Amino acid sequence: MDEISLEVRNLCSHLDFDQEELARRYAHERDVRRRPERNAQFIRTDKDFAHLSRDPYAPQLSRAPIADHRQVIIIGGGVGGILAAYHLREAGVTDVRVIEDAGDFGGTWYWNRYPGVRCDVESYVYIPLLERYKFTPSEKYSAGAEILEHLLSIARELDLYSKSLLQTRSRG
Ligand SMILES: Cc1cc2nc3c(=O)[nH]c(=O)nc-3n(C[C@H](O)[C@H](O)[C@H](O)COP(=O)(O)OP(=O)(O)OC[C@H]3O[C@@H](n4cnc5c(N)ncnc54)[C@H](O)[C@@H]3O)c2cc1C
Repeated sequence: MDEISLEVRNLCSHLDFDQEELARRYAHERDVRRRPERNAQFIRTDKDFAHLSRDPYAPQLSRAPIADHRQVIIIGGGVGGILAAYHLREAGVTDVRVIEDAGDFGGTWYWNRYPGVRCDVESYVYIPLLERYKFTPSEKYSAGAEILEHLLSIARELDLYSKSLLQTRSRG
């Protein structure tokens, strides 16, 4: 008996049904999904995937390097970076710079715009700072565009645009 079958059998040992049959079914479903070539099924070359690292929503930017000093640097302007900036401001720290690879804030919700994209946790739980910004989600599971717009409005209110470096990747 293989590992999966044994595990299923142990899990079900106190239940009254045909454990052997269930274990066989699980093993069968696993086997029909397995590809014999394993990882060789995936194509991995920089050439094939290089285009995926380009930002399709913003024109290419080129500018001279900037050298200055900030009290706090936040790498990434997604939900995490925006919330960091928000809470820093609440704590009185405003000399903050966000460095963001993308052409705008929003992180996940900037990059992912495929048809039907939405959160899968209820909007009231997922979307940050709803009460603070008096924002009412229009659906139980908000569409990505609505989440993005909310995040951008927070970035505007925090005045992050004047302080941040967009289309800039931090290395090191
Ligand atoms: C379609 C989809 C649906 C989701 N739904 C849910 C949900 O319902 N509930 C849930 O809890 N989570 C969900 N998630 C997960 C989601 O990623 C997180 O909820 C959250 O948005 C992550 O925020 P973050 O700021 O940590 O990271 P991100 O949103 O990934 O932001 C990180 C940002 O940092 C930038 N960055 C990274 N490295 C660098 C660098 N070196 N220099 C400069 N910039 C950099 C990136 O460009 C990116 O914009 C979902 C994700 C996807 C893709």
